[in-house]
Amino acid sequence: MLALNPDDLIQIKKQGDAIPNEDLRRFILDYTRGSISNETMTDLLTVIYNNGMTSEETFTLTKSMLDSGERMDFSFLDNYVADKHSTGGVGDKVSLILGPLMAAAGLAIPMISGRSLGHTGGTLDKLEAIPGYKVDLSLDEFKRNVLDIGISMIGQTSEICPADKKMYALRDVTGTVGSIPLICGSIMSKKIAEGIQGLVMDIKIGNGAFMETLEEGQRLATLLQQIGNNFNVATDIVFSSMDQPLGMYAGLWCEVKEAINCLQSDGPEDTMAVTFELGSRLLIQAKTASDKSAAMIMQRELIENGLALEKFMEMVSAHGGNRTDIASFQTLHLPAEETAFSAQQSGTISSINTKLIGLAISELGCGRKELADVLDPTAGMEFYHKIGDQVTEGEPLIRLFNSNFNKLQAALTMLNTSVVIGEEYVDHRLFLAAD
Ligand code: URA
Repeated sequence: MLALNPDDLIQIKKQGDAIPNEDLRRFILDYTRGSISNETMTDLLTVIYNNGMTSEETFTLTKSMLDSGERMDFSFLDNYVADKHSTGGVGDKVSLILGPLMAAAGLAIPMISGRSLGHTGGTLDKLEAIPGYKVDLSLDEFKRNVLDIGISMIGQTSEICPADKKMYALRDVTGTVGSIPLICGSIMSKKIAEGIQGLVMDIKIGNGAFMETLEEGQRLATLLQQIGNNFNVATDIVFSSMDQPLGMYAGLWCEVKEAINCLQSDGPEDTMAVTFELGSRLLIQAKTASDKSAAMIMQRELIENGLALEKFMEMVSAHGGNRTDIASFQTLHLPAEETAFSAQQSGTISSINTKLIGLAISELGCGRKELADVLDPTAGMEFYHKIGDQVTEGEPLIRLFNSNFNKLQAALTMLNTSVVIGEEYVDHRLFLAAD
């Protein structure tokens, strides 16, 4: 059969039919090489976003994205090679804590992270707020760090999943982020390319997540696990709430600071609970811990004795960062501007529009509207309250900070309807279901 041209292929998907595997594969590889334009890829992303994909198409998409670059091999290591990934949220700095913690427990963590996407934050942008930290190491440097330190955290490279690197950036600015097959392909291609044996996925559910309902999350989970199985990657799933920001801070440097606090035994309860839940899954997969209670004890010890923080510091140094800068982390990247969003009435916080908060954080300077936008590392928010808290009219609920007055005011205006205050007691659960 004759190969489909890109426009015909998009047309097939528009009509609701499945794209033949070989044509989809060629489209992805041609786009990666530059012979298909961003405009044509945007058309395909949009039609996938609107019409979805079959499991087979999603598998082919993932495999093609994986084959667009190299696949690492750590099979010569004695350590269990694993990674964690989140579908994205607001204030989710767990990778910055969990990666070093797992490396301190003896796992090898070759972590490829993403930038901010839509209203959600990106680990890579947070890492770049660390002075000197290079996210674009060569694959050899990346591998050496994993061998020497047990962890390295980088971004999509031109060697590993270059297709995801281009598609991810394009999805961010074309409103095509929240699509199950695209999320699945993006995550699993990167993870499989890392050469891992095990993966734990934090599927965020709620009004600040790409999956708003548990049912959607479960559909994604099934696909992720099928693809994990196909590639021999043990894949554990945790569903955690994104109906409010995680932790007390969301932004760039402020999240790194909060992660360091967590590694110094001074982290917020929700952030530590998610970290330890995901960590327990990996430690059990790796057979480093026999059960959850042993895994919890081990993780607490590695934080209390400073070994997890030491791993973080070693990783930062190996990536070009300066330990002295990190030691003085409280006074780095001080914002020039700040203001507060206050309660419009007294009562109990009954819900938080987390997506709106994420968009306002992006507006402060933590996200991109155009591919070339430069981020403001000083920007972010501090949350004084969580769902269920009693508040009094006029009391500050959220502190906003950055180094650009106009953006600060625009973000403040966006928060107007972000916090709903009612009369009743509200039950809020951090974990949504067992897998
Ligand atoms: N994380 C990713 O790596 N890709 C997505 O598409 C969403 C979250």
